[in-house]
Amino acid sequence: MRISMVSEHASPLAALGGVDAGGQNVHVAELSLALARRGHDVTVYTRRDDPALPARVRTDPGLEVVHIDAGPARVVSKDLLLPYMDALADGIVADWGEDTPDVVHGHFWMSGLAALNAARQAECSGRVVKVIQTFHALGTVKRRHQGAEDTSPAERLALEAMVGRSADHVVATCSDEVLELAAMGVPQGSVSIAPCGVDVDLFTPSGPAQERGRAHRIISVGRLVPRKGMDLAIHALAELDRSDVELVVVGGAGNSSDLQGDPEAQRLRALAAQLGVADRVILLGQVSRARMPAVLRSADAVVCAPWYEPFGIVPLEAMACGVPVIAAAVGGLLDTVVDGTTGLHTPPQNAGAIAAAIAAVLADPVRARELGENGHRRVLARYSWDRIAADTEMAYLAALGTAVPGSAGVRRSAARPLESTGGRVL
Ligand code: UDP
Repeated sequence: MRISMVSEHASPLAALGGVDAGGQNVHVAELSLALARRGHDVTVYTRRDDPALPARVRTDPGLEVVHIDAGPARVVSKDLLLPYMDALADGIVADWGEDTPDVVHGHFWMSGLAALNAARQAECSGRVVKVIQTFHALGTVKRRHQGAEDTSPAERLALEAMVGRSADHVVATCSDEVLELAAMGVPQGSVSIAPCGVDVDLFTPSGPAQERGRAHRIISVGRLVPRKGMDLAIHALAELDRSDVELVVVGGAGNSSDLQGDPEAQRLRALAAQLGVADRVILLGQVSRARMPAVLRSADAVVCAPWYEPFGIVPLEAMACGVPVIAAAVGGLLDTVVDGTTGLHTPPQNAGAIAAAIAAVLADPVRARELGENGHRRVLARYSWDRIAADTEMAYLAALGTAVPGSAGVRRSAARPLESTGGRVL
């Protein structure tokens, strides 16, 4: 297939950890590469946010990243990008020329607008391009949790629902999202699940581990934004009240010293000082993909404490490294982390429960090792990018109306819970 990916703010080539650079960048990069490995011809369209970027970058024989001029050639908050989506669509259509793809896959609601616009323009020239949509995050959920703090454009909810209803197929990343999509009026027959994946060759249990500063280490990884709940991990550390445990917070737009100007980093540092744990909270700043496995392996447990989480790739990366995950029981974390088997679920926004979970993991190293090993097995069985690419390919075939040999429809495999394994957790 010829596949166009659209990811307006999240370039597969961007450094990760900044406010708008996280899971979506990883997802688009890895999914595109895995589809290219399966023999497809993949082009990723993203917005030029730096005048020095080349027009086209071929990262693999089957994969090219194209930077489209749409709005200022500098980093612009994703909440301000809506006015540039028509220009993005026009740039995509110009790049297609006569050579339209089979499918155009929008990532995030605004890319969905650009994808629909581009497909409609192609249709006016008599060409059919099927539109696939992955939302990554939903405005309804963000509004519910962030209320007045939500800086998304006012039009987001209406446009997002329109994208969901107009796309030929919507790929949800977790079971929870399917319910949200139904509430938005997206026809359930056009929805399937293909979760995010993890690079199982990079994230492995064996390999170097970063040195610890104390006997025990807890890690939280993510963009430094309040909803990721890094403050809850700091509260939990304080409640734990053990001087032999340190908390490493990974993420932010730059290295540890660059974080001086980061408001969330300052808030977290102030909180740690106020709770008397400043000497045991280390803000590491941005960590590269290459370094991330060694950092994760150095943890007794990885704490993921978001208020809400559309998917959450970090728990998969921790599980792939054989590290138990202490995860808030929200969104995608309900599918990925199996409570009591690959980690421990905690009620959302509950520092006391996180502290208790950390204490439980540290108190029983044998059990902790089992949780880590189970997590590694689960990731290998369900969350490799090759597996996710195969699931996504079936969504494309469903949109194209092409029968899948031996299949009654689009698989919901990776997110399907235990019944498919006879109750055994993989
Ligand atoms: N990440 C990274 N370096 C950092 C911070 C984060 O490589 O300094 C990566 C992290 O390993 C994960 C992604 O960014 O692959 C975050 O994805 P997730 O789905 O957990 O959160 P999102 O950013 O989508 O909310």
